[in-house]
Amino acid sequence: MPTLKPQSGLSAIKPYVPGKPIEEVQREYGLTDVIKLASNENPLGPSPRVLAAIQAALPQLNFYPDAQAYRLCRAIAAHHGVQPDMVRVGNGADGLIRELCTSYLDDGDEVITSASSFPVYDISTAVMRGRMVKTPLVALSFYLRAIATAITARTKLIFICNPNNPTGTIVTAAEVAEFMAAVPDRVLVVFDEAYFEFVDSPDYPDSLALIRAGRKNVIMLRTFSKAFGVAGIRIGYGIAQPELLAPLRAATESFPVNNLAQVAGLAALEDAEFMRRTVEVNRAGRQYLYGEFDRLGLRYATSHTNFILVEIGPRARDVFQKLLERGVIVRPCNGYDLPDYLRITVGVQAQNARLIAALEDVLRTIGR
Ligand SMILES: *Cc1c(COP(=O)(O)O)cnc(C)c1O
Repeated sequence: MPTLKPQSGLSAIKPYVPGKPIEEVQREYGLTDVIKLASNENPLGPSPRVLAAIQAALPQLNFYPDAQAYRLCRAIAAHHGVQPDMVRVGNGADGLIRELCTSYLDDGDEVITSASSFPVYDISTAVMRGRMVKTPLVALSFYLRAIATAITARTKLIFICNPNNPTGTIVTAAEVAEFMAAVPDRVLVVFDEAYFEFVDSPDYPDSLALIRAGRKNVIMLRTFSKAFGVAGIRIGYGIAQPELLAPLRAATESFPVNNLAQVAGLAALEDAEFMRRTVEVNRAGRQYLYGEFDRLGLRYATSHTNFILVEIGPRARDVFQKLLERGVIVRPCNGYDLPDYLRITVGVQAQNARLIAALEDVLRTIGR
């Protein structure tokens, strides 16, 4: 008897392994005081203005969400100085990545990205039975020349994670200009800028300028999950020319973004003071951690994000485990093909200091 078989693309999927939840670590290790520096969440919590907006919206939960997300799209458009029909909100940037793959990939189409980048690209590509092609990192950064060289007649989509998760590195405006000159119009280029708010380099490219200039094969993705501090409610957005977005509207589920998420996005966008503080706390935390890693003789990639990739060596997995036992959750990088590294989210000062104390202790116990 033939048995029930899942869709063939799924066999290519390595399931996404998220950062461990605090409660799970508390349960497994019998700990009460656990900190999570594993998923690049905002350590300040959500903005109080977001909480108030959600409270105020609760009595309307009997109504379906606005499928157009009219107010939020207009607010995002105003924020970026584009037309509202150039904005699409999604169930996180993850949701938009899925919608892009659903809308554009046919069986066997090629998708190019770099090794050691965001695993969600692989999953959404596999779901559509696309073929993932990966170019190597160079100095822990995306190398756009290799990506341009990898383009074939079957290439449909290119994901550029900038800054890159998990390395924290950026590609520059000059690199992007050279790259875009080599990309045919039939290839869709996705600039995933989930960590945009933390970047402070003058060399960072303006992907929105490409879109404003009318390129119909470029989309920029942003999220409210990181600097805006509402990862739990699931809201992100893309900006592109309306022609690029139209297939996404057609292909997706009816209500991808719930009404509390829409309200949260609106309030988060308005809270400039919270954003300023978030970026400032992150910058100070990064500096502190760099200094401590230097003192401990650990190498790291200079970060343009709210996390730092630290080189631990062959015992990185061990160190991850021993940090867990001390109530500190960080991210091992085996799943990113960087097994000698840990990715550590920058916390508030007390968390950073606790991480360093635990790390120093662990390194001592393993004799490093
Ligand atoms: C966190 C992250 C996202 C998006 O997250 P959502 O929570 O789905 O909005 C997208 N890309 C990268 C590289 C990320 O690290």
